[in-house]
Amino acid sequence: PEVPVGELLRGASQRFGERIAIRHGTDVLTYSSLWQRSCAFARALADHGVGSGQTVTLHLPNCLEYAIAYYGVMLAGATFCPANPLLPKAPLSKQLSDAGTVAVVTHAGAITPVESVLGEPEVGEAVRLVVMVGGEPGPGQVAFDSCAPSDSPASEPPAVDIDVRRDLAHISYTGGTTGLSKGVELTHRNVVCNVLQYVAWNHGAVPATGESDVVTVDQVGSETDWPVRLGNGVLINLTPWFHAMGCIGSLTVPLVAGVTVILHDRFDPATYLADAERWRVTSMSGAPAMFAALLAEPDIGKRDLGSVRALSSGGGPLPHEHIRLLSERLPGVVVCEGYGLTEATMGVASNPTARSSTQKLGTVGVPVFDTEVRLMDPSTGRECGQGEAGEVQVRGPQVMVGYRNRPEENAESLVDGWLRTGDMGKFDSDGYLMIVDRLKDMLIYKGYNVYPREIEELLIAHPSVRAAAVVGRPNASVGEFPVAFVVPAGHIDVDKVTAHVNAQLLPYKRIREVVVVDQIPVSAAGKVLKRDLRDQLR
Ligand code: ATP
Repeated sequence: PEVPVGELLRGASQRFGERIAIRHGTDVLTYSSLWQRSCAFARALADHGVGSGQTVTLHLPNCLEYAIAYYGVMLAGATFCPANPLLPKAPLSKQLSDAGTVAVVTHAGAITPVESVLGEPEVGEAVRLVVMVGGEPGPGQVAFDSCAPSDSPASEPPAVDIDVRRDLAHISYTGGTTGLSKGVELTHRNVVCNVLQYVAWNHGAVPATGESDVVTVDQVGSETDWPVRLGNGVLINLTPWFHAMGCIGSLTVPLVAGVTVILHDRFDPATYLADAERWRVTSMSGAPAMFAALLAEPDIGKRDLGSVRALSSGGGPLPHEHIRLLSERLPGVVVCEGYGLTEATMGVASNPTARSSTQKLGTVGVPVFDTEVRLMDPSTGRECGQGEAGEVQVRGPQVMVGYRNRPEENAESLVDGWLRTGDMGKFDSDGYLMIVDRLKDMLIYKGYNVYPREIEELLIAHPSVRAAAVVGRPNASVGEFPVAFVVPAGHIDVDKVTAHVNAQLLPYKRIREVVVVDQIPVSAAGKVLKRDLRDQLR
């Protein structure tokens, strides 16, 4: 893993050449062309004086140009900073100035907030290059196609000197689900390690002989006796690339392993299912809310999804009921839940993807290679015993350098080389990790801890409930009591559902109030926005 991120693409293009790397509608990008155009883009950045130690923000929806720009930034030795193209002006401006952005790659459909942010002196003076994808570039802007034309000849990237342990590959902003979005600084080594951890995990790039546990770059995507090989497969991407799960899980890991990625720029369940059938996809990955939407799509029963071998979910809890339904609708598919966070590049733990291994539904599996997880009692600071719930702490080569410009949060989050995740977890007797809930979402009722996830699982298992989320309503005499937001599946008798769920809960965990809604708010990355629900209660 002592190579910079861009070199992973060189290896993949040498191995997989004319294979299709990414398919977006009728447009395709082969591995060779992705490499050639990324080299051209890197040289264009260098020509504009953008390189080592400088931040390039990609303010784009998922598209072929995104992949070229991402690898171009990596090959130029610059730092990639992804931004949600739907961010309103104020958070976009904060992100650009916090990251110290000098170049922005944006899209004709998303240019308005960028232009208005560039009008602010603090950001505008720092940004020296605006590259426009699709549409006519405005005054002072450069067309993406002139930087990385589709007929870019084979060439080398600019010569850059990258210290993989110190130089930043990514500044990735956290989802902001629980509060302020923070810039996570990741070195080339962080990213390459996490990519290889997952390539090895998902694609069997482990030595078949068992002589060594070291995975080298040239073994990636190699033929092994791995029981379920996802390499040489087709992945349908359900996540935006501006989020860690999309960028690592769908833009780097599959491309390093020779997989073809089927790309969409927005999430539409019916189109996904149609494309999954049409392109004979072998794996699907996404957040639980996206799988919930696929399950609710009437077409799911009509599509031939017999090619799908594995389905990976992460980014939030996959309800047990949805695991059951997915296994029923897609017989023979390995349903694999994993766990991660931006602060650990993307991933920490996963269920094994090999069919012959044990996937434990309702757990997030075991730590991936070279990763340690411990559980600490948040009140006493001592390590928890088996079966006890504690805060998940992580140590491994994928753990961030720190948050950008946030010394206080760094002192709290990184302790003696361990990352405090703010999530509560438990190990079962086989060492499989279960995520109990986020510490910040836990309620305290008369001094007792209540984890909303336990109540949500029971609600979602009820046939009248399509989706549910539980938050606390502050109350002077008890602390907080659980309020359930419920999306009905057809007709719902709220009293009956509440009685049914409460009968399975200890008295202090019982739901005290139910609000029926049309939908539960989720972020662009598919995360339930509980702070919006708390605001609604207020
Ligand atoms: P912020 O930290 O800004 O509030 P965020 O937590 O949404 O944003 P991400 O890095 O996008 O930032 O998400 C990581 C979080 O997602 C984890 O800390 C955890 O709470 C949750 N998560 C990820 N995978 C799972 C899973 N399989 N089960 C339960 N929760 C999960």
